[in-house]
Amino acid sequence: MDEAVLVLNANFEPIHVCSLRRAVNMMLAEKATLVVNGRGEIKTVSASYPRPSVIRLARMVPRPRPRINISRKEIFRRDNYVCQYCGKRAPDLTVDHVIPRHLGGQHIWINVVTACSACNHRKGGRTLDEAGLHLLRIPREPPSSAFYLFGGHLYQYSEWEPFLLNW
Ligand SMILES: [Zn+2]
Repeated sequence: MDEAVLVLNANFEPIHVCSLRRAVNMMLAEKATLVVNGRGEIKTVSASYPRPSVIRLARMVPRPRPRINISRKEIFRRDNYVCQYCGKRAPDLTVDHVIPRHLGGQHIWINVVTACSACNHRKGGRTLDEAGLHLLRIPREPPSSAFYLFGGHLYQYSEWEPFLLNW
């Protein structure tokens, strides 16, 4: 029962990932309907239920535009696990503050980049100009598209792909 289920809003916008148990409970309470099964059935003594992979809420839930929380994992993912100074896909990735924190640089999307430890060491506590380094790309907040938000599950649940496109 530890599979993840993609939850679509009533308008089919992907909004959430929940546990299989929660998805089944929502379907039994008629708060959601099955969109994709694909995983066989859950059998109890008296009945059997489809094992959902994608469900859709019966009623539209209002929802603000989601934001990606800033974290090491999400910074590396935004930068495609590539050092933003030398372009290497190094195993020893670190987070670098473009304007160093001791110079007032903030921990915000536009001031953090993925750096290999060699480049991070070379830059030290200096600015780009002082260190003679250049960024491959200007850092930005990642898009909060459904594909970006939930695409990490696709290696496991490829059947979600058509539902993530164009949101
Ligand atoms: Zn590097």
